[in-house]
Amino acid sequence: MSVQKRRVIFCDFDGTITENDNIVSVIRHFNPPGWEEIVNDVIQERKSIRQGVGEMFAMLPTSLRNEVVQYAISQACIRPGFEQFVQFCQTEEIELYVTSGGIDFFVYPLLKPYQIPSDHIYCNGSDFTGDSIRITWPYYCQPPCTNDCGMCKTTIVRRFPEEEYERIVIGDSVTDFAAAKMAEFVYARAQLIERCDELQLPYAPFHTFYDIMEHLTHSNTHI
Ligand SMILES: [Mg+2]
Ligand SMILES: [Zn+2]
Repeated sequence: MSVQKRRVIFCDFDGTITENDNIVSVIRHFNPPGWEEIVNDVIQERKSIRQGVGEMFAMLPTSLRNEVVQYAISQACIRPGFEQFVQFCQTEEIELYVTSGGIDFFVYPLLKPYQIPSDHIYCNGSDFTGDSIRITWPYYCQPPCTNDCGMCKTTIVRRFPEEEYERIVIGDSVTDFAAAKMAEFVYARAQLIERCDELQLPYAPFHTFYDIMEHLTHSNTHI
């Protein structure tokens, strides 16, 4: 008999905790010329996430700061069951980390109503001191990751050795691909489902956080 490993969850933000991708919503709303091509390049992995996100925000002037922040927060919609999921993780003593490729000015305000310690939230930063919005990367890739992630999820996952932890990734898209490959189990939606199928990663699809709680409760994902 092996000792049961501790469960740790790494949960994406945009398109996972929130219904939509907030970065795409903001950029689409303010519509700087050429943004669609950059999004496509990132989705098709022709451009790194850090490069693409940095370039898109650099097209927005800091004079729009209040509008950008207000719009990002007001359009976001939290996925059903998230509040209960945060409580569930506390009750079940599952460590929950929010690992987001999103930006601090919307990630922190949108997570404020939930009981998640701030040192369990990882996202990118922002600097409004210049003429245009500059995204900062406090959690940049550490070796061996060379993906130029921006907010490097694999660097964070790697801090939890697989000998001790059952590492679970929840996500939806390109920012989750590398971490999903490392995880013992994945909860996936949208593009991440296709990637899990393609790579034959162990996963379950989800629509709401109730689906994830149900699956965590009734199935044994321990391997
Ligand atoms: Mg996402
Ligand atoms: Zn990385």
